[in-house]
Amino acid sequence: MFKKVRIRLTLLCAGISIIIMTVMSFIFLYVSEHELYQSKLQSFQNDINTISANLDSQSVISMEYLSRMEAQDNYMFYVTDNGVPFLYNSITSEKFENNFSKNNYLTTVIYPKDKDSTLEITVLCSLMPLKKQINSQRLRFILIDMAAVLILSVFSWLLTGRLLAPVIENQKKQNEFIASASHELRTPLAVILSASECLSDAPADKQEGFLKTIRQETLRMSSLVNDMLALSSSGSNRFSIKPKPIEIDTLLINSYEAFKPMAHDKNVSLKLTLPKNALPLCNADPDRLSQVVSILIHNAISYTPTGGRVEITLVYNKERFYISVKDNGIGISDEDKKKIFDRFYRAEKARSDKGHFGLGLSIAQEIVAAHNGSINVMDAYGGGSIFTVII
Ligand code: ADP
Repeated sequence: MFKKVRIRLTLLCAGISIIIMTVMSFIFLYVSEHELYQSKLQSFQNDINTISANLDSQSVISMEYLSRMEAQDNYMFYVTDNGVPFLYNSITSEKFENNFSKNNYLTTVIYPKDKDSTLEITVLCSLMPLKKQINSQRLRFILIDMAAVLILSVFSWLLTGRLLAPVIENQKKQNEFIASASHELRTPLAVILSASECLSDAPADKQEGFLKTIRQETLRMSSLVNDMLALSSSGSNRFSIKPKPIEIDTLLINSYEAFKPMAHDKNVSLKLTLPKNALPLCNADPDRLSQVVSILIHNAISYTPTGGRVEITLVYNKERFYISVKDNGIGISDEDKKKIFDRFYRAEKARSDKGHFGLGLSIAQEIVAAHNGSINVMDAYGGGSIFTVII
């Protein structure tokens, strides 16, 4: 599909440039040929004036003079006296008539000033050299135009390729996103389907178990759909944030409180460290920022084995807030560090976790970017990872 679009765009782009270039070339050629012709005419007129002045100053028309002029200036003289052609004439009367009637010559007739003279000197100036010059100029133009057409076509092809590259990349990502999303949705749907089939045949005491499975998988699907909606709106530049002055330390305390039960259930110690001094307000969207913090804490607890440690720290330095979530869990390999912010990416070690779809960090990254902030990951000293959000 994109190849067709590229070909069409190339044709359009190159076509317009070629039409403009051709029209300009024709105008230039027309003007240049017109000027060449005018200058030839002007020099012919000057020569005729000189020749007729010379002839007038001579009492006798010298044949040597005429033949010298013929040889010198590419002219042909046809002299008649009282209508009778001179013996001198270098061309025959038929040839003269023939040339005269064609358009290949500039012609004029000189009558000597002497009133009694019955002489008539017809001068022919061949236009062939001029026509040759014009033809070779046309040929050069055609060759230059053809080369320009070729260059313009190649240039347009490369240009449209560069223009379309981000669109193609976007389309590829969208396709991957849809493929991964369908894949993720298929699993809970299959579980719900089989649980509902079993439910109808199951004895009353077993039905509750199937209902629980259906509820759990529906919740999983709903959370996945919410994540996908958040990301799809960011993809179309609609990831809107509503920033307002907020107390980041209060936001972190709330998140910490919310995750305490989960950490407790998994026997992971959760610690929050805040600066001792009073902090300035931070201009941020509280809901979105707490979503980022939740994603990081949830991941930290999920990827830290029982008995592990998760520490949330807030630092304020040079008008920036540094929120870091450190764990001593399974850690992230250098290879995975490059990919974990991609949509639906899950490191091999994390694949088995059913509650994770690989969307959390991409959502976190989009939200932080919407705040003009940054997010990065590093290895924690002694094992585990540290995620830091800078706002
Ligand atoms: P998920 O929902 O799978 O956690 P995320 O986008 O939040 O998706 O994370 C992507 C992947 O990054 C995870 O699948 C996991 O492999 C890795 N990851 C994220 N946080 C941590 C962490 N604290 N420790 C180890 N691995 C992590």
